[in-house]
Amino acid sequence: MSKIESPPQAEDPRLTIAQASCADDYDPNSMPVAKARAFIHQFLEPINAVLRVPVRSALGRVLAEDIHSPVNVPSHRNSAMDGWAMRGADLSSDSETTLEAGKVGPKQCVRIMTGGVVPEGADTVVMQEKARASGKSIAFAAGQKTGQNVREAGEDLKAGSLALAKGRIVRPAELGLIASLGVGEVAVYRALRVAFFSTGDELKSVGTTLGEGEIYDSNRYTILGMLARLGCEPMDMGVVRDDPKLLEKAFAQAAANADVVITSGGVSVGEADFVKTMLGKLGEVVFWKIAMKPGRPLAYGKIGGAHFFGLPGNPVSVMVTFYQFVRDALLVLMGANPVEPIPTFRATCATRLKKAPGRTEFQRGVLTRNDDGSLSVRPTGEQGSGILKSMSDANCFIILADATGNVEPGTSVEVQLLEGMV
Ligand code: AMP
Ligand code: MG
Repeated sequence: MSKIESPPQAEDPRLTIAQASCADDYDPNSMPVAKARAFIHQFLEPINAVLRVPVRSALGRVLAEDIHSPVNVPSHRNSAMDGWAMRGADLSSDSETTLEAGKVGPKQCVRIMTGGVVPEGADTVVMQEKARASGKSIAFAAGQKTGQNVREAGEDLKAGSLALAKGRIVRPAELGLIASLGVGEVAVYRALRVAFFSTGDELKSVGTTLGEGEIYDSNRYTILGMLARLGCEPMDMGVVRDDPKLLEKAFAQAAANADVVITSGGVSVGEADFVKTMLGKLGEVVFWKIAMKPGRPLAYGKIGGAHFFGLPGNPVSVMVTFYQFVRDALLVLMGANPVEPIPTFRATCATRLKKAPGRTEFQRGVLTRNDDGSLSVRPTGEQGSGILKSMSDANCFIILADATGNVEPGTSVEVQLLEGMV
């Protein structure tokens, strides 16, 4: 536990990170995944800066106020089918009925198209496939019901009713729904500013030549990609050497300019010590060994007003910890409500998996559908935490719970899709 710079005021009812980590069963050296997640969520307050944008610009943003429908949707009673409108009472239910085309009156009917306003007096529509025209005489098949194929005004949404609640993420369906109300502008939260940098003396940026023992920095690219997909405003601060002075400057600058600071590397046992001391000066940060693989070391805290996530250095660990801890936290901070974890479901594991009990594993898998419709999953080759190809080849995580040991072929396992409709 790092030292606290400014102790909370006595009247401040909010829990501090230091207080939360004093719980009896709090063990930073063996932190279960769910517990770490719950710990972080205690400190997340959505941003409150709001702006009004044209509907087109709202895609991927979070609604900052409820949207009530200013109109009935649909606005008029209308037909759900191409066909004929009539008075339902004129139709016989057990035999064919012939009506005269023209107006809506007793024993009459009118042509109507899908979406067309159902004329006064008519209450029923028969689809054209159930009608046979012979001049002005239209014969309707038996079995029609009064009221069928008519959509009442306000059936989807009554004027004044809640169309979309504050906190909803705007997807293509919401864009269309908002437009269907005739609403041209909406209030959304401003984008969350997320500063990130990589730490490590061995890291080189793309476009330079590698010296002995050096590697290209890939974490800034995966982090950029994950942030961009979430709709955050990424602030790339480059690579920072493992030098306390440079790191301190980078942390201070990031925290002053962003809502969230994400780093990769430098939180593992061998490296954490001077980072701990330095972050202890700047804010309040806890360092955990999470009972998971990959992604054991993880740091979380507040630096000034900014939330801080210190991810491990290994490229696969970065992605796994981002999806398991950071994603949901960012959504909460972005104002999304409710925030649902990425759903999981079950599939049959096609191969044997090695797994030690006592930690949650996130193996990278390929989920396929078998000819009989059932789902199979198999891991993507080598599962080392540095092997980014295992993520790239995967379309899902295979999540093996703490208690699980080795998995035999044919066993049902939990999977979580990496793919979505985008
Ligand atoms: P660390 O957590 O800093 O000890 O790093 C763990 C491993 O991840 C080391 O092998 C690092 O070289 C590697 N690593 C750290 N940062 C990056 C990065 N930005 N891109 C690629 N590999 C990294
Ligand atoms: Mg390092």
